Amino acid sequence: SSTSNYSTAAAVEELIAPPVQVSYTQHLINGRFLDAASGRTFPTYDPRTGDVLAHVAEGDAEDIDRAVAAARKAFDEGPWPKMTPYERSKILLRFADLVEKHNDELAALETWNCGKPYEQSARSELPMLARLFRYYAGWADKIHGLTVPADGNHHVQTLHEPIGVAGQIIPWNFPLIMFAWKVGPALACGNTIVLKTAEQTPLTALYAAKLFHEAGLPPGVLNVVSGYGPTAGAALASHMDVDKLAFTGSTETGKVVLELAARSNLKPVTLELGGKSPFIVCEDADVDKAVELAHFALFFNQGQCCCAGSRTYVHERVYDEFVEKAKARALKRSVGDPFKEGIEQGPQIDVEQFEKVLRYIRAGIDGNATLECGGERLGSKGFFVKPTVFSNVQDDMLIANDEIFGPVQSILKFKDLDEVVRRANTTRYGLAAGVFTKSIDVANSLSRALRVGTVWINCFDVFDAAIPFGGYKMSGIGREKGIYSLNNYLQVKAVVMPLKDPAWL
Ligand code: NAD
Repeated sequence: SSTSNYSTAAAVEELIAPPVQVSYTQHLINGRFLDAASGRTFPTYDPRTGDVLAHVAEGDAEDIDRAVAAARKAFDEGPWPKMTPYERSKILLRFADLVEKHNDELAALETWNCGKPYEQSARSELPMLARLFRYYAGWADKIHGLTVPADGNHHVQTLHEPIGVAGQIIPWNFPLIMFAWKVGPALACGNTIVLKTAEQTPLTALYAAKLFHEAGLPPGVLNVVSGYGPTAGAALASHMDVDKLAFTGSTETGKVVLELAARSNLKPVTLELGGKSPFIVCEDADVDKAVELAHFALFFNQGQCCCAGSRTYVHERVYDEFVEKAKARALKRSVGDPFKEGIEQGPQIDVEQFEKVLRYIRAGIDGNATLECGGERLGSKGFFVKPTVFSNVQDDMLIANDEIFGPVQSILKFKDLDEVVRRANTTRYGLAAGVFTKSIDVANSLSRALRVGTVWINCFDVFDAAIPFGGYKMSGIGREKGIYSLNNYLQVKAVVMPLKDPAWL
């Protein structure tokens, strides 16, 4: 059958021993590693096998209380918010240097716990981590308010002050990159932090936070608690002493944390949520290049990207050729042990996601989409899924509406641009879109018509630190990265003073 073609079907059977050890499994609170208050631990897994990788301190409300108290004290008493911005900047720069020094250990740990190809961790994500912190180090001493002319009788200045204690909840698909998107701007602006990692991937943030202390970060400024969402996560979102909440994860959980924040102390919330991003291949496209980019847009990171190009819209003139070539490309995708060289795709993160992806594939088949290739697990252990391509997908099918978060490409046919814009926008999400065209007019008009936070023209997943990222509609609230991210972690104070002779004298 066409699905027996996978270049490394055997690769998932013999696994490489990860070239790293697990050093840190406790919470990092007030600069010290601590067991959970309850003494409990929970298992974290190697997604290549489903075997337990380590047991990690299991945080609940009491651990969150301790961490928030440490962050509160570090904010109220300093030295962090009172340090010169230049001093803060230097600590972020030293951390970036340490990330480079520990590149291979951190990358190996990320791959081991998360399943992504080691080459991606080591050559792309770790360098990106250093880049992000250097970017934010650059901002630390360039944050300042304005002088406002106002009514001409008053000297008015605005002070841009840190908000206070930031609670941050991150997902498992890019554990270190999400750490950077959250921690970087919060620290650059002088806030203190309690970060809750995803229960699937607690390890690398603990390691990174340890390096931050080596870089000179004062105790209590960055606290990391591991644990589950409904316990540790909910305690953080509803904490009365947390001044700001930043969350990345599913839209469903985003609604929950927004409500917890509102019902407690009305802390401001930024949300980076799910997506169902269209990737539009226009009739003038070079089909080979479009196939390659659409493949990357969907399959990158095992399909586990919030912005994955999960609705591939192809113009009818090039549709048949595109489908044939997309199938051939998927069949060539190398799937296997992410520690092996040349592997493009590792396992899905855990058994829940693995089963969810297989359920969506079943729904695609039952809904009469055409299964071109894949459609089942690869190997007999771990959470590997064969790269799957569906053609003849219709807008009302489940696989064209829900976020699958796996290696499942859905190809849909369109006739004209107005139609594809309307269809692309008919979704509750609005995170990103891809457009593949040679026409400047098409690029310009589609980039304005699509209701999404990012439009990638003839590229996809370009993620420099300076480019803002976030969603329209139910894909989120606010922007991360770039200059826009600083507003999430700053309060504006207006200071007003008469120019002369105050009225009451
Ligand atoms: P999730 O939203 O449940 O988890 C994300 C984070 O929120 C984790 O740290 C989790 O512990 C925490 N959390 C969960 N419930 C919580 C609660 N009640 N209060 C506070 N925090 C809570 O996502 P998931 O279960 O890991 O994945 C489910 C789906 O979410 C995926 O299939 C995918 O569609 C989507 N997802 C999106 C992103 C993204 O980057 N936008 C990332 C991961 C997952």
